[in-house]
Amino acid sequence: MAGELILIVEDNEKNLKLARDILRFHGFRVVEAMTAGEGLAAAREHQPDLVLMDVQLPDMDGVSALAELRRDENTAAIPAIAITAFAMKGDRERLLAAGFNGYLSKPIDVWTFPDSIRDFCEQTRPKA
Ligand code: MN
Repeated sequence: MAGELILIVEDNEKNLKLARDILRFHGFRVVEAMTAGEGLAAAREHQPDLVLMDVQLPDMDGVSALAELRRDENTAAIPAIAITAFAMKGDRERLLAAGFNGYLSKPIDVWTFPDSIRDFCEQTRPKA
């Protein structure tokens, strides 16, 4: 079985590299984008199984980027997980209410991150 394709949208190069390296090591395939605009284009082009969306991006915040993703019928059904650096009280609820399928806080935990992503993939996998 081919690994799930994960689109990482993250403008911080170090965080992007860390997430990519961990996911690849654990058998996922990875597509990367460093802006929301690039991420939306990559989602249309590659149809990933899951999008990991940094909430703070240079051109658009993650909630607006998610709205764009949902607005386009070619990407509307792709599951998306929010990743945020400054987890504040209420963030989780706010991001889930905005339509994200899940939520992770930075820094990425090397040990739990792959299992979390695997769980999200299983929860959001289209039913046959
Ligand atoms: Mn950011």
